Amino acid sequence: MKLANLAGRAALVVGDDLAIDLATASDGRFGPDVQPLYERWDELCSFASELDPSQAAPFERERLEAPVPSPRQVFAIGINYRAHAAETGKPLPSVPATFTKFPAALTGPFADIELPADTVDWEVELVVVMGRRADRVVETDAWSHVAGLTVGQDLSERTMQMAAGAQFSLGKSYRGFGPLGPLLVTPDELADPDDLALGCSVNGETVQDGRTSDLVFTVPALIARLSAVLALLPGDVIFTGTPAGVGMSRQPPRYLAVGDVLETWIGGIGTMRHRFIPPA
Ligand code: ZN
Repeated sequence: MKLANLAGRAALVVGDDLAIDLATASDGRFGPDVQPLYERWDELCSFASELDPSQAAPFERERLEAPVPSPRQVFAIGINYRAHAAETGKPLPSVPATFTKFPAALTGPFADIELPADTVDWEVELVVVMGRRADRVVETDAWSHVAGLTVGQDLSERTMQMAAGAQFSLGKSYRGFGPLGPLLVTPDELADPDDLALGCSVNGETVQDGRTSDLVFTVPALIARLSAVLALLPGDVIFTGTPAGVGMSRQPPRYLAVGDVLETWIGGIGTMRHRFIPPA
């Protein structure tokens, strides 16, 4: 199943470019709001499996918004790919290096994003969305708690991130710094959800190109480690870390500029596109 947030209304995507409005198709049983669906994920999946796909209609991709617009908790993981640890000169952590992106920083897959400073960096990331409460979950049972996967950008204002010791949560939570989308894809749609190609490009030049099979803490390991500390709630998201190729580690460093277009993709899930604009 592929779930979309189409201009604020939950929709099921059929093929590449057709969608079914969920509230209409279910006579109001589900939707139109997307976020509450994660509380009734099993029920939604069984409803969707019986839906007649012939009622799907074309839609404009630019109208897509974040498929998880208002999670209660946003977890994000630093230094979770070996090559990224090497490029930043940091040792591999013994526990997931965890911070948050505050939920008001989330935005859609095709939004314009304000550039607040001249040291803003890109980080393509696989984002996990929870479909069940996960409390003290073991790795072998972790995937069954996942609603699906989406593409994320962990945009990072590096100067703020490194200020006052380390302000990861603040430096990665400027307005629009948590784009998600274009769709939420359930794991069964993917040939191997533990091995997905992911990358991003700036003005058409590929700057990151990795695979999620290189994750240090895998998706099941992250769910086990985090849920050993606190419960993960339906609709919560986990930014799982970025592969090598961030701008900060280049010689000289390279950062985003007003007018740049950042494209971010994961194989089997889709591509987001963002343009950077001056601050208001
Ligand atoms: Zn990151």
